[in-house]
Amino acid sequence: MPANETDLKASPVTHLSFENTEIAFRHSSNFALKRAYWLFRIINVNLLVKIGPPITNFAVKIGLPIKGLIKATIFRHFCGGETIKECDTTIKNLYEGGVGTILDYSIEGEDDEAIFDNTRDEIIKTIERADGDKAVPITVFKVTGVGRFSLLEKLDERAVLTADEKTEWKKVQQRVLDICEKAYKTDIPVMIDAEETWIQKTIDCLALDMMERFNKQKAIVYNTYQMYRHDKLASIKADYQQAVDEGFILGAKIVRGAYMEKERKRAAEIGYPSPIQPDKSAADKDYNDALRFCVAHIDKIAIVAGTHNEDSCRLLADLISENHIDPNNPHVYFSQLLGMSDNLSFNLANANYNVAKYVPYGPIKAVLPYLFRRAQENTAIAGQMSRELSLIVKERKRRTGI
Ligand SMILES: Cc1cc2nc3c(=O)[nH]c(=O)nc-3n(C[C@H](O)[C@H](O)[C@H](O)COP(=O)(O)OP(=O)(O)OC[C@H]3O[C@@H](n4cnc5c(N)ncnc54)[C@H](O)[C@@H]3O)c2cc1C
Repeated sequence: MPANETDLKASPVTHLSFENTEIAFRHSSNFALKRAYWLFRIINVNLLVKIGPPITNFAVKIGLPIKGLIKATIFRHFCGGETIKECDTTIKNLYEGGVGTILDYSIEGEDDEAIFDNTRDEIIKTIERADGDKAVPITVFKVTGVGRFSLLEKLDERAVLTADEKTEWKKVQQRVLDICEKAYKTDIPVMIDAEETWIQKTIDCLALDMMERFNKQKAIVYNTYQMYRHDKLASIKADYQQAVDEGFILGAKIVRGAYMEKERKRAAEIGYPSPIQPDKSAADKDYNDALRFCVAHIDKIAIVAGTHNEDSCRLLADLISENHIDPNNPHVYFSQLLGMSDNLSFNLANANYNVAKYVPYGPIKAVLPYLFRRAQENTAIAGQMSRELSLIVKERKRRTGI
């Protein structure tokens, strides 16, 4: 290794700036930027985001021809396409900026066995698409995409299953196994998303079982840890210990968590202590402590930091540098969602870190819940422009010089 390469890796990342909108939007044409500007202007209006979902759902249900409009606007910004093939342009654009793609087949809340089989097959196709293409370095799935939510809930409660439910559960386990086995055989990592606490114990058990089988040599299967839960830092530490004892690599996607309001509401309604941290700063502290813990054990833990939080991204970049870890070490990835936080993704990739974005795809009707969540996340807070909108405004000003 040349002497200056070691020096480079040890240097603090003071050069890392997330304000460079030129790098962030290099892949966006003026037209695409203008479209994103108007999209986020509309999304910024709280009232529209509140009344939009029911109106859109109703319009789609009664067959009004609005799919074309959705596809040309919000879908185009946050999704890669309706099929894997349609995602090719997005995959290419991201990769030109050094950012990989995580194809995310976005089907939610189904309860039909044929749909579950079909989703398993589609996820396997995403692994096949990734095979041999560095532009698609990781894959992902949700257990509720291949199994019925209420069955998982019953398993979490340790309730007695009927004979039919036992057969159904075997099928869910087999689908998860099929996906992870395919990932193992093709050498493509696969992440398992985290969901609601009342089904998460079952997901965690499945994920650990898959890691024991497939992560002996390298991280193929990753579980997801939601740090808005007060018990999850302890879980990472316990799972790490299990990985050491049983001789496998722990794969850990670390996120803050997406279901906070739903979690708190359910806990209050049923009358059990909320699993969520008392406040945001407690969630931030555990998130950052999780990064510190994982980086300290980077030979045995592979992490994907799924976050749009600048401080956490900067902390991870600093930890990589302080611990003399190669920024291209496959055990450390940064990850954001398509259409959000390009200032983080592209500036991190430009500084040579591993970065991959979730690229959701699927039939428009099926991805609507995902799109509504993105819209809600990007509404104005206290009359301020959302972060995404202010970055787009900054870049448009830079390009026009006014
Ligand atoms: C690549 C990627 C993959 C993801 N995968 C998953 C997944 O599998 N499962 C999942 O649940 N989510 C997932 N998410 C969503 C994620 O959990 C967050 O909801 C989202 O990224 C916002 O958190 P942040 O770290 O980006 O940023 P921030 O804006 O810093 O944090 C916002 C988050 O902080 C937490 N928070 C806010 N207020 C409070 C409070 N008062 N008390 C406690 N906590 C609070 C909430 O989790 C909230 O979403 C993923 C996100 C990304 C980018």
